[in-house]
Amino acid sequence: SKWVYSFGAGATEGRADMKNLLGGKGANLAEMANLGLPVPPGFTITTELCTYFYANGRSYPPELTAQVNAAIARLEQAMDAKFGDPVNPLLVSVRSGARASMPGMMDTVLNLGLNDATAAGLAKRSGDGRFAYDSYRRFIQMYSNVVLDVEHHHFEDILDNHKRDKSYTLDTDLSAEDWQAVIEDYKKAVERELGKPFPQDVQEQLWGAIGAVFGSWMNARAITYRKLHDIPADWGTAVNVQCMVFGNMGNDCATGVAFTRNPSTGENAFYGEYLVNAQGEDVVAGIRTPQHLTVAGKIANKSDLPAMEEVMPEVFNQLNEVRLKLEKHYRDMQDIEFTVQQNKLFMLQTRNGKRTAPAALKIAVDLANEGVIDRNEAVRRIDPASLDQLLHPTLDPKADRKIIAKGLPASPGAASGKVVFTADEAEQMAGKGESVILCRIETSPEDIHGMHAARGILTSRGGMTSHAAVVARGMGRACVSGAGDLRIDYKTKQMSVRGVAVKEGDILTIDGSTGEVMLGEVPTIQPELSGDFATLMGWADGIRRMKVRANAETPLDARTARKFGAEGIGLSRTEHMFFDPERILAVREMILAEDEAGRRKALAKLEPFQKKDFVELFTIMAGLPVTIRLLDPPLHEFLPNTEEDMAEVAAATGTDPLRVRHRTIQLHEANPMLGHRGCRLGISYPEIYEMQARAIFAAAAEVAKTTGEAVIPEVMIPLIITKKEFDILKAVIDRAAEQVKAETGVTVEYLTGTMIEIPRAALKAGEIAESAEFFSYGTNDLTQTTLGLSRDDAGSFLPEYQRQGILEQDPFQSLDVTGVGELVEIATERGRKVRPDIKLGICGEHGGDPASISFCEKVGLTYVSCSPYRVPIARLAAAQAAL
Ligand code: ADP
Ligand code: MG
Ligand code: MG
Repeated sequence: SKWVYSFGAGATEGRADMKNLLGGKGANLAEMANLGLPVPPGFTITTELCTYFYANGRSYPPELTAQVNAAIARLEQAMDAKFGDPVNPLLVSVRSGARASMPGMMDTVLNLGLNDATAAGLAKRSGDGRFAYDSYRRFIQMYSNVVLDVEHHHFEDILDNHKRDKSYTLDTDLSAEDWQAVIEDYKKAVERELGKPFPQDVQEQLWGAIGAVFGSWMNARAITYRKLHDIPADWGTAVNVQCMVFGNMGNDCATGVAFTRNPSTGENAFYGEYLVNAQGEDVVAGIRTPQHLTVAGKIANKSDLPAMEEVMPEVFNQLNEVRLKLEKHYRDMQDIEFTVQQNKLFMLQTRNGKRTAPAALKIAVDLANEGVIDRNEAVRRIDPASLDQLLHPTLDPKADRKIIAKGLPASPGAASGKVVFTADEAEQMAGKGESVILCRIETSPEDIHGMHAARGILTSRGGMTSHAAVVARGMGRACVSGAGDLRIDYKTKQMSVRGVAVKEGDILTIDGSTGEVMLGEVPTIQPELSGDFATLMGWADGIRRMKVRANAETPLDARTARKFGAEGIGLSRTEHMFFDPERILAVREMILAEDEAGRRKALAKLEPFQKKDFVELFTIMAGLPVTIRLLDPPLHEFLPNTEEDMAEVAAATGTDPLRVRHRTIQLHEANPMLGHRGCRLGISYPEIYEMQARAIFAAAAEVAKTTGEAVIPEVMIPLIITKKEFDILKAVIDRAAEQVKAETGVTVEYLTGTMIEIPRAALKAGEIAESAEFFSYGTNDLTQTTLGLSRDDAGSFLPEYQRQGILEQDPFQSLDVTGVGELVEIATERGRKVRPDIKLGICGEHGGDPASISFCEKVGLTYVSCSPYRVPIARLAAAQAAL
């Protein structure tokens, strides 16, 4: 079979849509070559080979060697050079490239094909010994590190010593002879570390690098990254072997990375960084401070280094044309990598660029307005979960801030937390519930887990495209990079900035939108929800079929929900209104009462409070539907648990404290979640539901009178298992409505419905729908009762279930669509058969989870209901589900 695909030099075999086979990098290199862009020729070894490699005890199919040799021969012909030839050597890079970009993978090896003989040949042929030996020393270090696992510091120490001996400050100060001396020491260090010399055989080098890429697919970093990003292990990575072009041949050479639009703000402006006379990863590694591409970028970032636009205007213009061409072709913002060799531009990579949530919105809205994509596509492109970041706080502009340093605004958002200096510490402290700011000189892929755990990331080195910046933007963490005044000392776990010392555990605030670093915790404020956000949400609202409601009971939650665009309340949990210190005593009196008369006395005290709650809720929701669930939780949640509480109840009711204690013990249940709760309370003590229903209708009547706006409450009975239960309780509710009508003269329209949260209710939904006017799937309880596992106890074993792949996801976060989902489908079908216009909603946590929302759309629910902060996410997810 075919394992190798060529690109460039007029023989491109791949395309952008072949990412699964060629990986993202390989497919896009092929696509750029097809577009006629200057791509150094090369070839891609497919991801299928990676799969073969692991399925066959880390070995290759026999035909691979011949295919690679043929591909190399093609490159030799295209470049008029020979791999391993001491007179005219061909050099290549070996680059990994999975389907999705993966920072955990093997780093690229540049300048492969150099050895003592070919380096001398390159020096002679190029007439530039400095360049040739600079390339060779880079190769020895990279190859030794990446393929042979020799740590960087061995090489750094050697280079530092040489520089100190010669009083050099910059790497570019070293001459050809200096580099040759460094190379001798490098080779000695490698031989000392490995017990064998650095490989001189270029075939051995090539196969070593290829093997290292495939091997890195299963290294710990890559595995962690895949887990964090839900990338399946069987995707595999591809390997790209590409002819080298050189950005380190002098001052007419450069290397850089760029975004076709600003990845932080989304502004339609070319944005990037480059370095003159440099190679590959120098830009992202933070070794030298990179320069800006454009004059505007230079001014905005207060840099005094000249922009590429000024230094090499012709190549810059060419690059800008490539930028426009790529955007038009890919119809999205691109992240590109390029190298300039002696004033000639080469494209080395393009991919859809990572961006902040605000930038994603702006870019999608702008592209739609520019006519590059349509509105549906704009809506499709925004990850609903990313909206979360926009709803997060920013620094209060009026708050005092003690700015101690300034870096680059690498990833927006404000974050405060305790300072830690290692990724492991970040993870440990975050595990204990602490907010932490991870402070590093620079970050590397080994730090990913700590970056994920941290609220914010601060580095003293590196630009806007440094590892820290790119990863933080992807994860939605606040990040300030390249705060050059910070002196970070890992050994003493301290950093200092102009006389101010910051120790591990001290509190810092960083603002990833301005680059400011502040001492202490600075207060934050909520963001505005206008502009691009409002535009895109408007488009989404035009697309979606399902309504979006919120779960809310307090006035604050209800207002937040409306601000975020909720179209009603899908779940108002009345018991949450009972915990107020003013009320809890009356609630306890009610529960502990030994007869109906006692309960009624206590309920009479509660009724005005309940009515007031509902008046507030109805007023805020201004005519939008409000679903109110009657009392649901097990009574034990309200029981007095201290002697003091019991004494208080006894005093209030004029009973003996001993009797109160006795009754408390009597009410104890072995398994309260399956005990006397939900509508079972209503069956035992109908006066409770009667009071609640009366409060609801009286409030509706009052609001209707004062505002002139009809309120149509939806009264919801929890935990139903039979139609009979429902009928008994519906009669109680109907009686309350009659009573309110008689008292106020107002006829309140209302619906009576039920939660479907017990499998039996789902199965008997047809019968229940004869009486119930709506269903709301209470998927939290439905998940617990269907899987027979308690949400409160599952934490100790669910992770293992996920690790072993028994359950793909936490069923409390994302609906178990095949199991619990089937019950929802059954209930929907049976309910609709009996009552075709039945209102159907979902009010568990799942109502705010995009995957679960997509399931709800498939089933055809009327609405989803979720926590107020997730309303925008649900609106967008519902639109995407409808597309
Ligand atoms: P990553 O996936 O980490 O970005 P790449 O494979 O893109 O790694 O390589 C990193 C950098 O190495 C590139 O941005 C480019 O500057 C340099 N590079 C890779 N291949 C070549 C090449 N053939 N010629 C010159 N530079 C190269
Ligand atoms: Mg790259
Ligand atoms: Mg429930």
